[in-house]
Amino acid sequence: MRSLPRPLFSADHEAFRDQVRRFCEREIAPHHAEWESAHGVPKSVWQRAGEQSLLCCWLPEADGGPGGDLLFDVIVCEELGRVGATGPGFPLHSVIVTPYIAHHGTPTLKRKVLPRMASGEWVGAIAMTEPGTGSDLAAIRTRAVRDGDHWVINGQKTFITNGHNADVIVVACKTDAEQGAKGVSLFVVTADMPGFSRGRNLHKIGQHAQDTAELFFEDVRVPADHLLGEEGKGFRYLMQELAQERLLVSVQCQSRAEAALEWTVKYVQERKAFGQRVADFQNTRFKLAGLWAELQAGRAYCDQLLGLHMAGQLDAVGASAGKLWHSELLGRVVDECLQLHGGYGYMHEYPIARAFVDARIERIYAGTSEIMKEIIARAVCDEVRP
Ligand SMILES: Cc1cc2nc3c(=O)[nH]c(=O)nc-3n(C[C@H](O)[C@H](O)[C@H](O)COP(=O)(O)OP(=O)(O)OC[C@H]3O[C@@H](n4cnc5c(N)ncnc54)[C@H](O)[C@@H]3O)c2cc1C
Repeated sequence: MRSLPRPLFSADHEAFRDQVRRFCEREIAPHHAEWESAHGVPKSVWQRAGEQSLLCCWLPEADGGPGGDLLFDVIVCEELGRVGATGPGFPLHSVIVTPYIAHHGTPTLKRKVLPRMASGEWVGAIAMTEPGTGSDLAAIRTRAVRDGDHWVINGQKTFITNGHNADVIVVACKTDAEQGAKGVSLFVVTADMPGFSRGRNLHKIGQHAQDTAELFFEDVRVPADHLLGEEGKGFRYLMQELAQERLLVSVQCQSRAEAALEWTVKYVQERKAFGQRVADFQNTRFKLAGLWAELQAGRAYCDQLLGLHMAGQLDAVGASAGKLWHSELLGRVVDECLQLHGGYGYMHEYPIARAFVDARIERIYAGTSEIMKEIIARAVCDEVRP
């Protein structure tokens, strides 16, 4: 479908997009329904993605990555969105988990972990949320206590994306229970460490091919050099990296919304009612036109945020506003598009039905819409004083 020009992306990026599109059409789309039934994506798919340099594209060659920039990872995210694939957690692995280790890991830890993440041998996850707390991250209760050359971790996490496949997990822990945010530190736990275990693969209303797990830590002894950065600075690192995480949500919401509209434009031209195509009702045409115009605004906004981020100028407030707006946009688009499919829109085998339920989480994870509004409102009120 026609769209605004995207000057951010070079010819190299567009050539890569063709490669990713072929990969998604060949290796992802035909198998996604099977993965939905299995509630997970096989590890072999991660390795094939790694072989084609589709993982951790931004990671420098010196760290074992392909040495591209973040826009290559954005393309992977967009192309997964284009085929409605919510199972492969490549974007979270590449753009959210890897940066913590690359930016704050010791050279030894980076050498051990990063090349394996880029090749797809190891899958990454980030574990912040606990059964008792999600939005209020400073209230986490998982503890890490220093014991000689190790830290000993005890606690429980839940709702962890890639949780069942994960080989390497960035875990937010309290290293000082008396402190709030200043008592949080981040650790790298590998799945082979004694005391680490996984609970249920959680049964969600959507994103069925995505493995989302409970994780348990019982006296897990983690070498001291698996502490990321400095003790007590974990909350600050989370806040720094969350801007990129929230930008990624904007990217995936925009691309999924564009895909939903494209499926709908095709559908309404095929479906007939009252002797004419559904596309010929003025209501349909106005809805499609309105949604398309909204998506143009969404595209311009998303690319503006991407451009700011690439220039190192996107702050937490800007990323939160984008996450809020694009996740709400996706919700509106899939709802309208489902309506234009009539009863078939409610049938699981139609991509719009899956997109509708898959979309709901975008307003919740990576910070709920309410938390985004709090962040924005605080900044706005700070800037404009009576
Ligand atoms: C499918 C899925 C995947 C996820 N993946 C991950 C992952 O990989 N890693 C990870 O760590 N977490 C993950 N999460 C967890 C997710 O980030 C949290 O669910 C989310 O941050 C909300 O936390 P909560 O569920 O504890 O809700 P709560 O914090 O209990 O919030 C409940 C309600 O209260 C509102 N609320 C809370 N505080 C305020 C406030 N100050 N002002 C106004 N309203 C407020 C919320 O907006 C919400 O509507 C995932 C969740 C799901 C469902």
